[in-house]
Amino acid sequence: MLKTKYIFVTGGVTSSLGKGIIAASLAKLLQGKGYSVTIQKLDPYLNVDPGTLNPYEHGECYVTDDGAETDLDLGHYERFLDTPTSQANNVTTGRIYQSVINKERKGEYLGKTVQIIPHITDEIKQRIQLLGKTGKFDIVITEIGGTVGDIESLPYVEAVRQLLWEMGHENAIVIHLTLLPYLQTSGELKTKPTQHSVKSLMQSGVTPDVLVCRTQYHVNDEIRNKLALFCNVQKEAIIESIDAETIYDVPGLMLEEGLDEVVLKKLKLPHYTKSNLDKWNQFLTKYKNPKNEITVGLIGKYVELHDAYKSIVESTIHAGAENEVKVNIKWIHSEDLEVENVPNILKELDGVIVAPGFGSRGIEGKVKAVQYARENKIPFFGICLGMQMAVIEYARNVLGYKDANSTEMDSSTSHPVIDLMESQKEITNKGGTMRLGAWECVLKPNSLVSKIYEKKSIKERHRHRYEFNNKYLHELEKAGMRATGFNPETELVEIIEVPEHPWFVGVQYHPEYKSTVLNPHPLFVDFIKASLEYSLTNK
Ligand code: GLN
Repeated sequence: MLKTKYIFVTGGVTSSLGKGIIAASLAKLLQGKGYSVTIQKLDPYLNVDPGTLNPYEHGECYVTDDGAETDLDLGHYERFLDTPTSQANNVTTGRIYQSVINKERKGEYLGKTVQIIPHITDEIKQRIQLLGKTGKFDIVITEIGGTVGDIESLPYVEAVRQLLWEMGHENAIVIHLTLLPYLQTSGELKTKPTQHSVKSLMQSGVTPDVLVCRTQYHVNDEIRNKLALFCNVQKEAIIESIDAETIYDVPGLMLEEGLDEVVLKKLKLPHYTKSNLDKWNQFLTKYKNPKNEITVGLIGKYVELHDAYKSIVESTIHAGAENEVKVNIKWIHSEDLEVENVPNILKELDGVIVAPGFGSRGIEGKVKAVQYARENKIPFFGICLGMQMAVIEYARNVLGYKDANSTEMDSSTSHPVIDLMESQKEITNKGGTMRLGAWECVLKPNSLVSKIYEKKSIKERHRHRYEFNNKYLHELEKAGMRATGFNPETELVEIIEVPEHPWFVGVQYHPEYKSTVLNPHPLFVDFIKASLEYSLTNK
């Protein structure tokens, strides 16, 4: 095992340049050379974690096996690397301050004045080194959220400056991601914003070792020379990151630019072999050469912001490639289904996904979508709230309990088919208190899911407060719905199916968090397969 080396990824010029994808692509290349790599995200906001954030703020909240509610970039890390992340992979300013203030209250600072430097920066440094200290990783890549020069990023850049100094340049380097804007009028790429952004980084005492430049057009030699000269970066360490057709092209593009080679050289690590991207490229070939095309409806209430359903969309991409089918997503606002003609909106679909969510807005539209998919035998996949809606729809329209509901939406319903667990009733704090992380689920033999998973027991990740109410299990099963997955300890229902329907599955957990490029999730793969069959036989 090597001594762990550290790579810091900072961003300049604008936000949303895709630091997460660059970090994940570099990690993929290093992994392809035989190194064990993990990626960490430091988020400069004051929430302790993104669990309490509305998805409109930063997109989906991603959940790890150990139950951490994290930034969606961790989803990219897992999808690219195919290795699980944990709470240690995502740290926010809120968490840093919470921990420093807790220590202060315990008297651990022995009467000292507690300050940003050294106490906050020490806490950041300790969090950065935590993953290295597990002994599991040769390389830790730390992505610093936000943009250099932001007030809230300052303590992070300062912590990086200190670590670079303490660790020495062979053990820690900085990659700075910037934008080269293209000016239509003069027909050229401009380097000035990058120069300014590097200056701002240097004012904080940090010189970048590598510049990754996002650009619409190829970066020619002249621009590379200019960037090298003005930014104190070697020419070979100026890496072009041209706009890609898909994020999954980025590792290949970085390989062509030699990002992995430059990084290894700077870290004085052996180069071993050329990065092996064979399996990755097999996925890309299938993804880019589909034999068929289908349209799947994604019914949710945050559909204006596609990032709110990032992992679901990526899972359909993995599953589509596996089936060699192009999956078009039709984004459907569940509130539209409440006021408009449901068949008009849903009739062209080959499959229906009812998405996770919280609160009552738009849920009647979700119930209508379930009903339409069930009655018209269109493949249906309900995820978390989507599964709960399927149970409510069945109770209302098959059992005849017209006011059946979840107590999350209607606390006075006479048929609470979805309800709070006893252990949840006393909880008042919202942050980190749901049923979170990986839980075991035992599959019923002869069920659709046991055939799909080819397993007796699975572990999937959860993020919800409400549960299937077992008081209604017998009645619902008698009426044709089947519970096919149970938590072995609590007997909570985790999966429901309607066996007389060709493909109707609702899961209380989030399978989308575990789908990766090299291991597409079996439920998504089978759902897309069923949707393809539906499309081929019904159209
Ligand atoms: N709002 C539901 C609950 O808390 C479902 C949550 C979800 O879809 N993630 O149980």
